[in-house]
Amino acid sequence: MRAVRYFGLNDVRIVEDMKKPIPSGDQVLIKIAGAGVCHSDLHVIDDGIVPNAPFTLGHENAGYVEEVGESVKEFKKGDAVLVYGPWGCGHCKPCKESSENYCDNQASQAAGGGLGLDGGMADYMLVPSSRLLVPIGDLDPVIAAPITDAALTPYSAIKRSLHKLTPEEFVVVIGIGGLGHTAIQILKAVCGSRIIACDITDDKLEFAKKMGAEFIINSSDTDAADKIKEITGVKKAKVVLDFVGATSTMELAAKVVSLNGDLTIIGLSGGHYPIAFGSVPLGANVSIPYWGSETELIEVIALARQGKIKIKIEKYPLTQALEVYDKMRKGQLKGRAVLVP
Ligand code: NAD
Ligand code: ZN
Ligand code: ZN
Repeated sequence: MRAVRYFGLNDVRIVEDMKKPIPSGDQVLIKIAGAGVCHSDLHVIDDGIVPNAPFTLGHENAGYVEEVGESVKEFKKGDAVLVYGPWGCGHCKPCKESSENYCDNQASQAAGGGLGLDGGMADYMLVPSSRLLVPIGDLDPVIAAPITDAALTPYSAIKRSLHKLTPEEFVVVIGIGGLGHTAIQILKAVCGSRIIACDITDDKLEFAKKMGAEFIINSSDTDAADKIKEITGVKKAKVVLDFVGATSTMELAAKVVSLNGDLTIIGLSGGHYPIAFGSVPLGANVSIPYWGSETELIEVIALARQGKIKIKIEKYPLTQALEVYDKMRKGQLKGRAVLVP
């Protein structure tokens, strides 16, 4: 079978001769329908953030059950499923509570399929346990694949701050890519706060408006913080979601977040910002959340099934993976690219 393999820093190749895996025990083999292309893949390929190469990329996966191990009773051939991405030990307390993204034993484990272990940019993917599969009912798995991350990660970040996202408050979303454009839709669906979107191109800002942002600000303007404060007034934004994580975006976020607000950094661009008395407003929570829980995945699938979020996808054949990564590097994708084997 074919697979998009990461062999080490700056080395990704499409190989044709991978062996089709055979599931045993609680394992399930998925025939991949779609694998989303996340910017984290570029941090893997270009920045080397995951050490244990080689492995198959693709951590936003959806498809059909092809074959099950002998102990799997809940799934059968042909079932449409999403693959929950962060694979924990399955036994510790966070895992038992569905938060495998915060597994107690994660320090000693690879993070999951496509991030250290073989992922879904391939004809087939072996999932180590049926507990990691979530049925999607009548959703098209090609369209649904990015829900596993591009929707789950912002959904989980927003849920942490939901009690602060009341209708008289403002929320700033920085970086309107795969995650950011979904974040805007989730915010529209779950809270009444007014949305200010930031990106560096007019094209992405127009896209943000279409997704439901009330205000748009080009964050490469030197006076972007002042423009945001003109909108919010003196109280500033109660929640800032930074889907870039560069030094410049963290600095902007710290300038516009309110007293007792939430500054949430999701992007992994490797920026730095000093956390100290006076560098963020008093009472502000600064957090760097990772992905989301499996129960949150079930919740965000429900939002998609109700039509309240529609991830804008661009479909590409699996064999164009390298071209798609190049487009992402150049900021030329809108919404989420999905590779279809
Ligand atoms: P993407 O490439 O689809 O979108 C990034 C967007 O940010 C683009 O619209 C781009 O124009 C914009 N941008 C770039 N620099 C900017 C700047 N200085 N100011 C404002 N906007 C800027 O990326 P994505 O797949 O949505 O991922 C976003 C980030 O989130 C990546 O760093 C990714 O690794 C990270 N991520 C983190 C988690 C987590 O669990 N913490 C999960 C998934 C992705
Ligand atoms: Zn991702
Ligand atoms: Zn665990």
